[in-house]
Amino acid sequence: MTDLLITGGAVVDGTGAPPRPADVAVADGRVQAIGDLTGRPAARTIDASGHVVTPGFVDVHTHSDLTLLSGPLAQSAVRQGVTTVVVGNCGLGVTPVAADSGALRAAAAYLDLDPAVRWDWTDVPGYLAAFDAARPSVNVAALVAHIPLRAAAVGFGDRPASAAELDRMRGLLGDALAAGAAGVSTGLVYAPACYAHEDELAALGATAAAHGRMFAWHVRDYADGLLGSVSQALRVAADTGCRTQISHLVAVGRRNHGSVARALELIDDARAAGADVAFDVYPYLAGNAPLSQLLPAWAQEGGDGPTRERLAEPGVRARVVAEWADMPLTWDDITISRTPDDLGTGRTVAALSEGDPARAALDLLAAHGNAVLMVAGGRSERDLLDALTHPASVIGSDGQALDPDGPTGRGAPHPRSYGCYPRLFAEYVRRPGGLTLAEAVRKCTSAPAERAGLAGRGVLRAGSIADIAVFDPERIADRATFTAPQQYPDGIRAVIVGGRRVVEDGAHGGARPGEILRIP
Ligand SMILES: [Zn+2]
Repeated sequence: MTDLLITGGAVVDGTGAPPRPADVAVADGRVQAIGDLTGRPAARTIDASGHVVTPGFVDVHTHSDLTLLSGPLAQSAVRQGVTTVVVGNCGLGVTPVAADSGALRAAAAYLDLDPAVRWDWTDVPGYLAAFDAARPSVNVAALVAHIPLRAAAVGFGDRPASAAELDRMRGLLGDALAAGAAGVSTGLVYAPACYAHEDELAALGATAAAHGRMFAWHVRDYADGLLGSVSQALRVAADTGCRTQISHLVAVGRRNHGSVARALELIDDARAAGADVAFDVYPYLAGNAPLSQLLPAWAQEGGDGPTRERLAEPGVRARVVAEWADMPLTWDDITISRTPDDLGTGRTVAALSEGDPARAALDLLAAHGNAVLMVAGGRSERDLLDALTHPASVIGSDGQALDPDGPTGRGAPHPRSYGCYPRLFAEYVRRPGGLTLAEAVRKCTSAPAERAGLAGRGVLRAGSIADIAVFDPERIADRATFTAPQQYPDGIRAVIVGGRRVVEDGAHGGARPGEILRIP
């Protein structure tokens, strides 16, 4: 018996093959058949005339580590067509939890939008069990993040790891990967990961390689030091053989525009030499991060609490301001997207400051530390197109599953959390000079699934898991903007997770069939 028949659409199967007219039958959570299925009896039917039927989007780069536990309906993600998210990116994560969970929670404030979420895990099995209990609407895979690993083994100090501490990190990571984590991530702008030397990154890479898992890199510098930073990831990839994913490949600051093309040449060379390297990208000209990302590494020694205390000292403030004189961005490029008291959100630091933006930024950081989030621009459309159209790019939103009606719905979040995938099709498929529909779908489905090691996801064929998106390729579009971000996209007809309809005709039906993926 067929549970669901999707009739009259054009199937884009995720492999890069062009659209072809076909019906899709779903039974027992899997694709039962694809082809001319006229007359087949089914419990329910979706008329997909004028629409494409694709695998659900696999978001290889998210920060939904905690927001999905706060809002398991995954509203802003699933309504875009996303059926699987990978959490734990950019070195920011919530497990393992060593003795001082408060310090780790402060370090990971970027993820932590709902204080009511209880951290009652200490390791990956416990964390994945929290997802089992939450029953999200989308499938979830988790990377182990460098910050909690280093916090557990070394603490928050500015020093290299000792041999024993490297062993401890290898052991914790190995245990986590054996428990089904999809890989490891680093974020070399964030404390305390920024204090790691290359031997530590090589130890993480070698451990990931031994388990056949991905190593995702938020590299050390996306501005003036982009090429050297990408080279470091490529060196570790070559030395350890680990599957390497460079996160959100961009060049920040006008003086660095054009460097993405040169970074792509480095990546091409590494791939030609046999390294397993790819990268992710999202279709916007601004990013989102904790404002503390702007602080020099020395100023963040000891973690969030000591950093905030330090930022009260006039000498420290003067030293930071002196370093900021050479910042690749201007204060007009930086908009405050979230603060714990909601003051200042949606305004640029320049506009907030009455003439002294550096002082305004330091005051915010001293008051709220890592819990102040920013949207930062200063990027080029040419760089974005170079990255999007490169064969090794995959789409990763770098966003969060947010619920506009819940605690995660506050502030002025980056619109990518609501519109990343629809925007790709609206701006970079329908307009000339971008991607074909089939190639864009591949970059949203099979390609990211392959990077994350999610076997059997991201393709539509008989027998595959029935994670499916149905959308109108002429109408799909993001509505979320930087000034009004909490808006769902247009053009999504249906989103099916594990054979169950989660979204139909723009409404979330409340189903929570997501699977918590443990990589064998
Ligand atoms: Zn990220």
